[in-house]
Amino acid sequence: MRAVRIHAHGGPEVLKVEEVPDPTPGAGEVLIRVRAASLNHLDLFIRSGMPGVKIPLPRILGSDACGEVESLGAGVTRFKAGDRVLINPGVSCGRCEFCAGGRDSLCLRYRLFGEHGDGTDVERLSVPERNVHPLPAGFSFDQGAAFPLTGLTAWSMLVGKARVRPGEDVLIVGAGAGVGVMAIQIAKHCGARVFATAASDDKLARCKALGADVLINHAKTPFEQAVREITAKRGVDVVMDYVGKATWQQSLRALVRGGRLVTCGATTGFDPVEDLRHVFFRQLSILGSTMGSAKEFADMLSCVADGKLKPVVDRAFPLEGVAEAHRVLEAREAFGKLILNP
Ligand SMILES: [Zn+2]
Repeated sequence: MRAVRIHAHGGPEVLKVEEVPDPTPGAGEVLIRVRAASLNHLDLFIRSGMPGVKIPLPRILGSDACGEVESLGAGVTRFKAGDRVLINPGVSCGRCEFCAGGRDSLCLRYRLFGEHGDGTDVERLSVPERNVHPLPAGFSFDQGAAFPLTGLTAWSMLVGKARVRPGEDVLIVGAGAGVGVMAIQIAKHCGARVFATAASDDKLARCKALGADVLINHAKTPFEQAVREITAKRGVDVVMDYVGKATWQQSLRALVRGGRLVTCGATTGFDPVEDLRHVFFRQLSILGSTMGSAKEFADMLSCVADGKLKPVVDRAFPLEGVAEAHRVLEAREAFGKLILNP
């Protein structure tokens, strides 16, 4: 089968579409003919390499996948050949103290497709049955690949960690990104007033269409200043920041006293300068989040199936277009998700 694989770290030129052996489903696994995979910022980190993190090469990229069940390993009962399915990209052991407590993204053996092993940019993928879910009726394969990782990430951050309540103000920094487009909708679903920042008025108009209430073009005004003006110096209850170094100080300053900052990544750098006085005098909470639990995935998926959350697809590429897809993601030219069709 064909797969997107790297043999060295670097720019989009290191992405190769090449033949690899077909997988066979082990006991309890479902073999999926992948019809759509989606890009995440993680793919750029894996491709470029991360300081201090050794990634065994070669590596097949990709975390999200949607397609049809092709065959079943021994003991699989919930699916049959031809079923349209999507996957929860995070695989946990199901046995450690964290899994037993329902916090499986803290699992000691937590494994994300594409990050801790080969990924989903392939024609065929073998996945543990408990990570496979029916594609909601009426959804295309592209839509089914466009929300699992980002939807789970945003759901766990806003519902699980920050526990957003009706009437609260939630600021999403870089809201046009894949996580952001799900976060806007989830924060609205929680009953919040949603502040969205983006670097272009075009992206902000699309955030508004998804439900954002307050739009801030951070290329024109520092968002910290805009938040102070709009909230009469109060600040917002929750800031969601995955931008990292470039926005961290503004994010802390945009919070109300006692506010919560929730972070799941640091696309511009992981070592911001922080003035701790802002944290303790103003009694802020900083909440870290990675992926989310199986329960959170199921809750998020049922909101998608009910039409309360809508996956946003920017555009799709054939597998051979992967280098261009990476370029578009890296240049932040996309709104919503970039899809590969293996
Ligand atoms: Zn575990």
